[in-house]
Amino acid sequence: MTKIAIAQIIHESNTFAPHTTPLSDFRLRYGDEIVRFYTGAHNEVTGFLEGAALYGYEVVPTFCATATPSGTVQAAAFDWLAAELVRQLKAAGPVDGILLSLHGAFVAENVANADAEFARRVREAFGPTMPIVLTHDPHSSVGEDVVKNVDALVIYKTNPHIDMRERGLQAARILCGIIRGEAKPTTAYRSLPMMINIVHQHTSSPPLRDLWRELTTLEQQPGVLAASMSLCYQYSDVPAMGNVVVVVTNNDQAQADAIADDLAAKLWGLREALAVAIPDVAGAVKVAMQAKRGPFVIVDIGDNVGGGSAADSTFLLQELLAQEADGWVVTLADPKSVQACANGGIGATLSLTVGGKTDDMHGDPMLVTGRVKCLHDGKYEERAARHGGVRWGDQGLSALLEVQAAPNKAASYILLTSHRAAPMSLHQLQSVGIEPSYMRILTVKAAIAWKAAYEPVMTGFVIADTPGATQVNPRRWTYRHTRAGLWGLEGW
Ligand SMILES: [Zn+2]
Repeated sequence: MTKIAIAQIIHESNTFAPHTTPLSDFRLRYGDEIVRFYTGAHNEVTGFLEGAALYGYEVVPTFCATATPSGTVQAAAFDWLAAELVRQLKAAGPVDGILLSLHGAFVAENVANADAEFARRVREAFGPTMPIVLTHDPHSSVGEDVVKNVDALVIYKTNPHIDMRERGLQAARILCGIIRGEAKPTTAYRSLPMMINIVHQHTSSPPLRDLWRELTTLEQQPGVLAASMSLCYQYSDVPAMGNVVVVVTNNDQAQADAIADDLAAKLWGLREALAVAIPDVAGAVKVAMQAKRGPFVIVDIGDNVGGGSAADSTFLLQELLAQEADGWVVTLADPKSVQACANGGIGATLSLTVGGKTDDMHGDPMLVTGRVKCLHDGKYEERAARHGGVRWGDQGLSALLEVQAAPNKAASYILLTSHRAAPMSLHQLQSVGIEPSYMRILTVKAAIAWKAAYEPVMTGFVIADTPGATQVNPRRWTYRHTRAGLWGLEGW
């Protein structure tokens, strides 16, 4: 029986975040633990596993390493991960092919394009004839070198990423085609001198929707194995940052080239629709307070946890308190305050200095008084397809603090978590007793990823141009390594 080894390394590295990422931030999984964690989830590894029954192969789960997005990865961590990846794949014994899941925006202190280097080392270890199919997140900096070291590259087509499992299955299908001698991938790669701002990276609304839908249509054409585009990851100051088009056809370079050129021209033509205009934090809170019906969502885009920020920004909290908004919930990663709540116990009224503790980019710690309403171990289950494709979530020990409200005002809450947790599931709130649809204002430390979970309940949303490690105006950063003249990088 055909034997396929699978492996995964996922990190989205924000090179502007002030702290580097150590190996200890990575959750490592081996063998059967990979099967247990990803079964019933919506990840590309779930697709790799399910492909076994669908396409008739034996899967050998080897090694998965994942971490929440954060700063540049330390050199020692990169070196160990690269060596372990090859070591574990080799330990699988003779295999017929390899399915590899890499994020595409992994930056290490010693290697700018770490994912390309992982792929190169796997290619080097297994030789030029080993079929290797790779998946990427669209928030990636895809250089041409990575495409050259694998037989095919498949990038998720949705943001929020709800098609990860499908892309895993697609990668498995392509790999099996190669092994059976039915497919001989030919790739066209186009790098565009442009950067789509994260504000616009929603693939199911304009201006991106129609062009991203076309990718799926193209794959129904005979001979097209995969049609992909990256959205780009603007918090990565590396030469490959920007938008790319990658088209893989079956032994037809001319077809791949023609489709890639057409997609690149259409993407380039979107520039006018990609202008950015968003209110500051005070303006955004005003908009939310004027909403006739809740829950109205305020997006704290400067503290986009999934983009590598601190998760404890207080700019929005400060403004909600200053404008005397009510019926809101704010989440802060603050293990110290969680511990204070746990020590006080349920029902205790405490004055705490919350948030703003990680670095000097996310506002000052705020003194608040509130009652401990709930303590929770932070573990929750999400069965629906949500950004990240994960079924088992963990925010660490968490405390819900009910902030003292004036008479006739609705209760407001601060959810304090021990881990940095991006808002990808409503169960993050429901597990501590908050019914999101009953709130007037929900706040999310995110950019686009939150939408998969929140769109079904919200009445509207506003993006607040908050400061932080994921602030959206590139003008506020100094880029040193990106290509000169990249459209979108000049900001506003
Ligand atoms: Zn992403």
